[in-house]
Amino acid sequence: MRIGVFVCHCGSNIAATVDCPAVAEQAGTLQDVVFTTDTMYTCSEPGQNEIISAIKEQKLDGVVVASCSPRMHEATFRRALERAGLNRYMLEMANIREHVSWIGKNKPRNTIKAFELVKIAVAKLRNNNPLHANKFDVTKRVLVIGGGVAGIQAALDCADAGYQVVMVEREQSIGGKMAKIDKTFPTVDCSSCILGPKMVDVSQHENITLYAMSEVEKIEGYVGNFDVQVRKKATYVNWADCTGCGACMEKCPSKKNVDKFNEGISKCTSINIPFPQAIPKKAAIDPSGCLMLQKGKCGVCAKVCPTKCIDFEQKDEILSEKVGAVIAATGYDMFDHSVYKQYGAGQYPDVITSLQYERLMNASGPTGGHIVRPSDGKEPKKVVFVQCVGSRDPSVGRPYCSGFCCMYTAKQAVLTKDHIPDSDSYVFYMDIRSPGKGYDEFTRRAQEQYGVQYVRGRVSMIYPKGDNLIVRGADTLAGTQVEVEADLVVLAVGAESAKNAPALAEKMRISYDSYGFFMEAHPKLKPVETNTAGVYLAGSCLGPRDIPTSVGQGSAAAAKVMTLFSKDKLESDPQVSKVNASRCVGCLKCAATCPFGAIKEVTDRAGNVKAEVIETVCQGCGICTVTCPQGAIQLQHFTDNQILAEVNALCQAQLDF
Ligand code: SF4
Ligand code: SF4
Repeated sequence: MRIGVFVCHCGSNIAATVDCPAVAEQAGTLQDVVFTTDTMYTCSEPGQNEIISAIKEQKLDGVVVASCSPRMHEATFRRALERAGLNRYMLEMANIREHVSWIGKNKPRNTIKAFELVKIAVAKLRNNNPLHANKFDVTKRVLVIGGGVAGIQAALDCADAGYQVVMVEREQSIGGKMAKIDKTFPTVDCSSCILGPKMVDVSQHENITLYAMSEVEKIEGYVGNFDVQVRKKATYVNWADCTGCGACMEKCPSKKNVDKFNEGISKCTSINIPFPQAIPKKAAIDPSGCLMLQKGKCGVCAKVCPTKCIDFEQKDEILSEKVGAVIAATGYDMFDHSVYKQYGAGQYPDVITSLQYERLMNASGPTGGHIVRPSDGKEPKKVVFVQCVGSRDPSVGRPYCSGFCCMYTAKQAVLTKDHIPDSDSYVFYMDIRSPGKGYDEFTRRAQEQYGVQYVRGRVSMIYPKGDNLIVRGADTLAGTQVEVEADLVVLAVGAESAKNAPALAEKMRISYDSYGFFMEAHPKLKPVETNTAGVYLAGSCLGPRDIPTSVGQGSAAAAKVMTLFSKDKLESDPQVSKVNASRCVGCLKCAATCPFGAIKEVTDRAGNVKAEVIETVCQGCGICTVTCPQGAIQLQHFTDNQILAEVNALCQAQLDF
């Protein structure tokens, strides 16, 4: 075998703490290595051309690149090998940046470690074989999970490109948080005026099938061919016949249900349409309050419904869909401020959340857009906004910045002045973070034109005084304690991951971070892709995002799907398990262990039971290989021989430099 070793400086990222020329020179002593060099940036065009030239001139049949993480550039170097006519699996990478130069400053010791990683990579490469991908068909339909603004954008872009879209939304209507908001920053344009038409487009688009009040139950399969099960929850109303006339809501005697769309600041009937612009505009019964479903008496809605579409016997339904790609745009939940005992922990009626305040300001909200105090219905004249409630606070497990609270607080303070011209607004803040286009100008306008008083400091306590509330905090700029008597306090609650996010991530086989937000494949280079091929992300399921970023990511995820669907055939990853039938004794321990159901039972010509891997279903996790008592099932590219060669290389005596 003829192996070439390329040691990358990565500018000074590696070269500052690793003697790259020495590693390259020492690599030349390894068995089968016939060419070594060190280069400034191996991933650059000249760097890749050097690999291609060396493969051709030195007649190399394997390449080791010692550089950064394979997660970063393995695909790049594999393509370079293919351009030179080599099989892409004749590449090995030694990660001497993340695993060496970035974690230690001792150059001599780093240099030895870098060489040892190169030695391991060469040992593995000497046991590599060319692998070849199979081709398979693509189902050109996409599943969009979540009907907020990011999901809506992704669905419309895919549908407009001619692809069938299945949208699954867990709530009764699409629209997400944006549908609850009154106006958007920094332009202060009406949220439902810009979102509403897009929601209507979703409902009317011939390429979009919408399942509201539904959740993804199961996702099986692989890129290009996912089998999805959707649980369509019982609404007790036959939606095919419901016209959304609202006659049932008018007559329903059960009127004390918590109105979730209005964030609990009002009550609604047990049969309800959440808001006038809901898509789909269909009624649904909340069984927890329905007299008929709880006590077997009432049924008024069934009597008044002109289309006779009430069905008290309705059950959840499981629907099956086939798709080739998945876009998750499941959004976020608001932080539960009740953990802040010092702010009344949800006990004071006039301490409300920012989203409740949006509903109070909204013309389609429970007060018709009149800002009033929940306790007595009076118009507040002094409103205090408290920022960073559940953001940048490690004591409640939320050390991250939610990103958009500074801006929506400024917007709410401005709108308060518009609604109640003789009112005063105060904002307690830690820092003002307003990096978007026109954002900083907007927060300054709130202070300079609208007279909003900004106080830099955390609020330590909120307590009642008569009908009002005292907000006590520090003014860290003046170095004093401040107390403001408020009629109404609005907590700018931060964003946290959606409650079901980890469970959904596991169904999609993607990663999530310690806060439950989904993980992108690479935060800079692959911001809407995941490590599971064919699964893409958009919006606040990745972490808090404002509306423009969510819309941009919706379009970006749609563009990725379109790129995938531009091919009629996809290539399977050959790094999958394979059964050596002559060693397999048919115990099927591997099949029982495989988490993906990728191993099936077959019978050979002699009638013996054997295991067989379904290549397109196998995810290459390797669990089966350690289960097999015969060593009959091996993961291609990570066989026992290849891994033992690496271990042996590592265990050899250290070389001195
Ligand atoms: S009365 Fe019937 S048709 Fe009208 S909204 Fe209610 S369920 Fe739908
Ligand atoms: S490597 Fe084995 S256990 Fe893992 S998915 Fe493939 S067949 Fe299943």
